[in-house]
Amino acid sequence: MHRTRSRRLTIAHLYPEAMDLYGDIGNLLALRRRCDWRGIATDVVEVRVGEPANLDGVDLVLMGGGQDTAQSYVAADLVQRGPELRDLVEGGTAALVVCGGFQLFGTSFITAAGETIAGIGVFDARTRGGHRRIVGNITIDATVQRDGAAHAQPPLRLVGFENHSGITRLGPRTKPLGCVARGAGNLGDGSVEGAVYRNAIGTYLHGPLLPKNPRLADHLIVCALAH
Ligand code: GLN
Repeated sequence: MHRTRSRRLTIAHLYPEAMDLYGDIGNLLALRRRCDWRGIATDVVEVRVGEPANLDGVDLVLMGGGQDTAQSYVAADLVQRGPELRDLVEGGTAALVVCGGFQLFGTSFITAAGETIAGIGVFDARTRGGHRRIVGNITIDATVQRDGAAHAQPPLRLVGFENHSGITRLGPRTKPLGCVARGAGNLGDGSVEGAVYRNAIGTYLHGPLLPKNPRLADHLIVCALAH
């Protein structure tokens, strides 16, 4: 990526107080540091339950993981902001949402306790909580491509750590982020992992993900700059 001067990105960080498992805040720190190295200024809009937030012109949306209780705490507020967030993604805004955040960016999440939590439907994805926890290191071969880019990119190997009981099934409108090389992934069976819709990425990979996978961080920055 070339050094870019006088550029500015606005990042919306959803529910930092509730959705930050395994240091997911590191995704924000990595993005800001990598922008800083290139002379790209970043502004961060923190979105908190019950507080107004101006999402106009947001270039990149971030949300981390959380336990089922944290997810039910933020869910109603997120649903209220759903139309605005969906419009942003339709308009080319980049997004990275991890684990609990990924589940809530799908259409619905039924917890292991039987509570149905509505999602915002950025991804055509339904999640059902189970009684088996899926825990361990995971490696995937991801297909990431900027919306509208002419050429397919070679797969990008990503490493991370997964800890979820949710099993996520994708519908026809959403592609997986990649294939599992090692680990369990969306279905717990080592097949597919994550979701991609336009420039939005959902994944079960904690790490935090972006410090461990700087090429993915740069992909998100390129998408955000194009927006
Ligand atoms: N509560 C969800 C699950 O266990 C998400 C957990 C997480 O964000 N790590 O499936």
